[in-house]
Amino acid sequence: MSADIKSNLKNIKEKIREAEKRSGRAEGSVKLMAVSKFHPAEDVIAALNEGQFLFGENRVQEAFEKFPPIFQLYPDADLHMIGSLQSNKVKNAVKVASCIESVDRISLMDEIEKQCEKINKTISILMEVHTGEESKSGFESEAEVEKALQLCADGKYPHIKPCGFMTMAPFTDDKALVRKSFVTLRELSERMKAKFSQFDMPELSMGMSGDFEIAIEEGSTLVRVGTAIFGERNYSK
Ligand SMILES: *Cc1c(COP(=O)(O)O)cnc(C)c1O
Repeated sequence: MSADIKSNLKNIKEKIREAEKRSGRAEGSVKLMAVSKFHPAEDVIAALNEGQFLFGENRVQEAFEKFPPIFQLYPDADLHMIGSLQSNKVKNAVKVASCIESVDRISLMDEIEKQCEKINKTISILMEVHTGEESKSGFESEAEVEKALQLCADGKYPHIKPCGFMTMAPFTDDKALVRKSFVTLRELSERMKAKFSQFDMPELSMGMSGDFEIAIEEGSTLVRVGTAIFGERNYSK
């Protein structure tokens, strides 16, 4: 098992480097997140032993059980939450994660602020934006994203640090549609960065196992790769 993780990581990193080169991006400008949802702690540790420190999880309960013992052993391990988040799960999410990438509504930001204030923690967030017809998650409109950032600018969320944007491309074999979704996010991020220059929002989290090379060509700074590192997920567990 861990032998596969080792060679898969090596393989993906090579592909990331090639895509960076091909698109004129600086080497090392794209970070790799290993999405470990539905995979056991042993697999996370196998990846850590290969120098992979950034992980992503979808479900708060799973992350909350899996990661604290890992942080004991590997204090440099870093976890982002990437799945749609119910407000009643925020309390535990902000305890285990350094960043919540799936912020898709203002009411969720209210709850994140409330829970972070309680534990005196400042958390990074990415605003997830809906960019493709078939995907469901994310802020529905640029106006809503702008409203959320304006609230940050007004000082409503002192424990929240907006760091950029995230999207999921539509699940389709149509590469042009996938690319269009990434372009949409990049263009939105350029407009928001110009409008809210007081925030440092460099991150464009886009690209998964099937489409990360296209995402890099379109400006991704963070690719979220699960299956291509850890293998197929067993959802029946
Ligand atoms: C599961 C998941 C991924 C990883 O998907 P793979 O296709 O397994 O690489 C990336 N981003 C999000 C938001 C996910 O839920």
